[in-house]
Amino acid sequence: MTRVLYPGSFDPLHNGHVEIIETAVSLFGAVVVATMVNPQKDTGLFPLAEREAVMRESLAHLPTVEVVMRHGLVVDLARELGADFIVKGLRSASDFDDEMQMAQMNHAVSGVQTVFMPATSRHAFLASKYVRDIARMGGDVTHLVPGPVARRLEEFVNR
Ligand code: ADP
Repeated sequence: MTRVLYPGSFDPLHNGHVEIIETAVSLFGAVVVATMVNPQKDTGLFPLAEREAVMRESLAHLPTVEVVMRHGLVVDLARELGADFIVKGLRSASDFDDEMQMAQMNHAVSGVQTVFMPATSRHAFLASKYVRDIARMGGDVTHLVPGPVARRLEEFVNR
């Protein structure tokens, strides 16, 4: 079975991510989803361990999906797992510009290739940043994220 690595911040996981994971399962079989720290991103809603726990719960319907959390480089994790490919989702041309260079860098330093999957029009507007911002202000995001994430966001807002 082909095994791929889908890395991201996932702070928090949303329905656009889930769609990419489900497609990766149908194409490749086994998918390792890794929640990681991206130093270029303003994250800071949930700590890694909390993201990992809620992702496990949200992806429990997919038995060939494994969730891990990691600090460090995506390519190091890909090598450690023996991943055949890295998977990335693309929403827009700006995602493509960033991800293309990252894919080429990752290939240059590790030999691991990246496979891009387009977001569907149902989810192409979705980004964790906006989910975080709306939830922080008390807005309703329940239709944009898996149930366990929605519950965790509600607890966060009511803390
Ligand atoms: P976000 O950009 O929402 O903060 P991440 O940085 O955690 O999410 O994204 C991890 C991966 O998921 C990246 O490859 C990103 O391009 C992809 N992705 C993010 N949002 C979507 C979406 N709505 N549809 C498809 N792929 C997405």
